[in-house]
Amino acid sequence: MTDLSLKLNELSQQGLYRSRRIVESPQGISLICDGKPVINFCSNDYLGLTNHPDVIHAFKSAADKYGVGSGSAHLICGHGSAHHALEEELAAFTGRDMALLFSTGYMANMGAISTLVGRGDTVFEDRLNHASLLDGGLLSGARFKRYVHADVEHLQNLLGNSKANKNPIDAPHPSPLPKGEGISRRLIVTDGVFSMDGDIAPVQALSAVAKRHDAWLMVDDAHGLGVLGNNGGGVLEELKLGQDDVQVLVGTLGKAFGTLGAFVAGSEELIETLIQKARPYIYTTALPPAIAEATRTSLKIIQTESWRREKLKQLTSRFKVGAAQLGLPLMASTSPIQPMLIGEAVRAVAISNALFSQGFLISAIRPPTVPANGARLRVTFSVMHEDRHIDQLLDALAKALA
Ligand SMILES: *Cc1c(COP(=O)(O)O)cnc(C)c1O
Repeated sequence: MTDLSLKLNELSQQGLYRSRRIVESPQGISLICDGKPVINFCSNDYLGLTNHPDVIHAFKSAADKYGVGSGSAHLICGHGSAHHALEEELAAFTGRDMALLFSTGYMANMGAISTLVGRGDTVFEDRLNHASLLDGGLLSGARFKRYVHADVEHLQNLLGNSKANKNPIDAPHPSPLPKGEGISRRLIVTDGVFSMDGDIAPVQALSAVAKRHDAWLMVDDAHGLGVLGNNGGGVLEELKLGQDDVQVLVGTLGKAFGTLGAFVAGSEELIETLIQKARPYIYTTALPPAIAEATRTSLKIIQTESWRREKLKQLTSRFKVGAAQLGLPLMASTSPIQPMLIGEAVRAVAISNALFSQGFLISAIRPPTVPANGARLRVTFSVMHEDRHIDQLLDALAKALA
């Protein structure tokens, strides 16, 4: 295994070596990180719920009531009343028939895609989709087609060249039919808000194309839920797209919800199919019930406290205006994910380290998370930031990027 250390050396020379900083403080905008106080600009805790007193209280009282572990998988004896109540509330929140909890977003994506398509089917994915969506497509064994980022026309061409005559659920699964014969399913998969770019997928156009080509559309709105839409319903609430327009909606709970886990929401037949077939659902331990109770509290806050979304918008636009004045390399994002394109990985890491030594935690995102020469600094905002934090950040960036 000596080649492992050779490979590690190679990564380090290319600026691609990844190491972890140790956080000693609670999550929030002020962290003690590797022993140093820093202002945090890279968390997904958009709404400040990871450390919210009501969420903590719900977690503690549920731990007192139910214990810590869930005891088993959902289909054995791990599906508690807390999980079930949360699923019903998430279904109502997203305007879908049903919702199904998964232990992580990674697993929800692996489970949903590999259940809906298999050999003989085709999955179409935006090139910049989150790794878990790409991995789900590969795991499924379906023909895998990537379209140019947000390019609906390119997708349409790919669809035009593929055969299909059934939506994913109507076709039998796993599809035993050889290629080109009988039924094959087609599934289009996209991030809602792109996790490393911050821009929003053209979901309306994708939905129209999907309908025309008898395909299903799956949207992973990990970064939109809680953050976008008047009630925090994400990209689909903003675009008013229901279950008939986007058949498979994935949300994660570790970001704006401030807890852990994920869900898939959609029709009863979709959710019942996942319960029967999705291996990352069936063969894993259910989330702790206390996590479900904490998430129910987060959901209430998300639905009732729209000031959090308003403030986040205001912070984001303050940053964008300031960054434009300074000529910083902003990308086309209106979300609280504000990446700045740097290019070379080595340079992005050097800038991130320089910012760290000045007290700002901003991660350098490098390949393979982003395309070659697409290394970037990825800034994210939280409702806990104040205007002065944004101004300090702008100052520091102007110096670091000069
Ligand atoms: C974070 C993320 C996931 C993974 O969710 P986890 O619950 O962290 O496993 C999936 N999709 C997108 C778009 C994400 O940003």
